[in-house]
Amino acid sequence: MRYDVVVIGAGPAGLFAALELAGSGLATAVVDKGLAPKERTSNTCGVGGAGAYSDGKLNLTPRIGGDPEAIGCSLGELEALITHVDEVFTRYGAPARYSGEDPQALAELRQAAAQAGVEFIAGRQRHIGTGRIREVIDAMYRDLLAQGIHFELGAPAQTIRHEDGEFVIAVGKKELRAGSVIAAPGRVGAYWLREVARALGVGPSFGPLDVGVRVEFPAELYDPIERVMYDAKFRVRTPTYDDMVRTFCTNPRGFVVREDHGEFVLVNGHAEADRKSGNTNFALLVHIELTDPVEDTTEYGRAIAKLATTIGGGKPIGQRLKDLAQGRRSTLERIRRAAVHPTLEEFTPGDVSMALPHRVVVDLVEAVEVLDRLIPGLSSEGTLLWAPEIKFYDTRYAVGPGMETALPGFHVAGDASGHSRGIVFAAVTGILAARRIREGRG
Ligand SMILES: Cc1cc2nc3c(=O)[nH]c(=O)nc-3n(C[C@H](O)[C@H](O)[C@H](O)COP(=O)(O)OP(=O)(O)OC[C@H]3O[C@@H](n4cnc5c(N)ncnc54)[C@H](O)[C@@H]3O)c2cc1C
Repeated sequence: MRYDVVVIGAGPAGLFAALELAGSGLATAVVDKGLAPKERTSNTCGVGGAGAYSDGKLNLTPRIGGDPEAIGCSLGELEALITHVDEVFTRYGAPARYSGEDPQALAELRQAAAQAGVEFIAGRQRHIGTGRIREVIDAMYRDLLAQGIHFELGAPAQTIRHEDGEFVIAVGKKELRAGSVIAAPGRVGAYWLREVARALGVGPSFGPLDVGVRVEFPAELYDPIERVMYDAKFRVRTPTYDDMVRTFCTNPRGFVVREDHGEFVLVNGHAEADRKSGNTNFALLVHIELTDPVEDTTEYGRAIAKLATTIGGGKPIGQRLKDLAQGRRSTLERIRRAAVHPTLEEFTPGDVSMALPHRVVVDLVEAVEVLDRLIPGLSSEGTLLWAPEIKFYDTRYAVGPGMETALPGFHVAGDASGHSRGIVFAAVTGILAARRIREGRG
C-alpha cells in the first residue's frame, strides 16, 4: 500500500497530526500496535496512546510539558497552538472544567510558595477526567475514519527502510510505503524508535532523566491548593546537593497505580471522575543529567528501575516516610497502622533507600521537608512513598520547526521525540509535523 504520509503511533501526537492531514488530499495511514478506543485494554497502547488512559489533565501553558526553544517555536505561536489543541478537545466533547485561572489566588499561592522556598509554576489547566477522555478520543477516532484516514491497528511497525526516496514500513506481514513519516510512538516505543532512527542515520542524543517516588498523603492537606490549581507544579532546590526536585502529575483524591515495563515495574498515579479515594498523590522527581564519562541516561534509569524491582520482588516498594527518615524498612504492619491507607493494591513493604541512589534519597527527603512548609502535614508520619517513579525523557532528536530530522521526510513527534512530556505538547509537536508536510516542505 502506498500513502503520502504514514503516522506511527495513535497517541495525542499521532492523532493531532492525523487531524491536520485529514481533508488535505494527502493519503494518510496511522499505525498503532494497540487497538481501537472501545476495544483496547492496554494502559499505554492503542488509539489515544497513554493519554487516553490518563487523567486527562491538559496543561494549557508553554511553561509546562515541553521546551519551546528546542522546537523553534515562538511563544506567540506556541500559545496559539495550545489554544487550538484545547478547542479541538472541546469540539470532541471535553467538558469545560478549568483551574488555575484566578489571578488573585495564583498570586497568593506564588507568594506562599516563595515564602516557603518553593517555586510555583502557575498555568491554566483543564481536567477532562479518566472516563470522559476515552469518549473524547473515540469521537476523534470516528471522525478521522469518516474523513478517510486509514488506521492500521493491532500490529507494531517493525522496521523502517529508506529506499529510492520513499519510506518502507514493515507492519506485521504488510509493507506500507510513504513519502513522509511522522514517528510518534510515545514513551512505550521510544527505544524502538531509537534503533530505527539510528539505522536511518538520524539517531538521537541523550536527554535528562527524572527519578524519584510517588508521595501519597491525606487529600485534605492539598485541598487549599487544589482550589487554586488542580495539578500545581512546584520546584525545590535541595540544600545538600542543590539539585532540582519537582512535583509532577498531582492526583487529588486519586490512586497510585503500577506501570509494567516487562523487565521492571514503575509507579504512576491517576484520578478518576466517578471514583474518589481519601488520598492525594504526586510524583516527586529528582532531575538528573549525565555528562562525561557516562551520558547514557537510559541505561542509568533502567539500571535503577531493575534494582528497585529486584528489591521489591517484582512489585513496587511502599514505605512510610517516617521509616525512611529513621533508616528502617517498612513492614506491612507499620503501613497498616499509618493514617494513610494505600491505594496501590499490590506492593512490597520495603526500604526506598535500598532501591534508589543515595543522592536521590537525600534530595527527596529534603524536598518533602521544604514542601511541608507549603503543604503543612506533608512530612507527617503517615505519608507513604512508592518507588520507583521514573520519567524517561532520555532520547532527544535534533529537529527543525516542522519536527523534521536531518533525513528529509522523516519527522518525529510526541514524547518519543524528547520534545514533549504531556498530552498538550505531544499534540503540538504532531501538528507542527503535519503542517510542515501539508505545506509541501516535509
Ligand atoms: C498513567 C499516566 C497518566 C498520565 N496523565 C497525564 C495527564 O493527566 N496529563 C498529561 O498531559 N499527560 C499525562 N500523561 C502523559 C501523557 O499520557 C503522554 O505525555 C502523552 O500521551 C504522549 O503522547 P504521544 O502521542 O507522544 O505518545 P503516547 O500517548 O504514548 O502514544 C504512543 C502510541 O504509539 C504506539 N506505538 C508505540 N510503538 C509502536 C510501534 N512500533 N508501532 C506502532 N505503534 C506503536 C503505542 O501503542 C501508543 O498508542 C500520563 C501518562 C501516564 C502513563
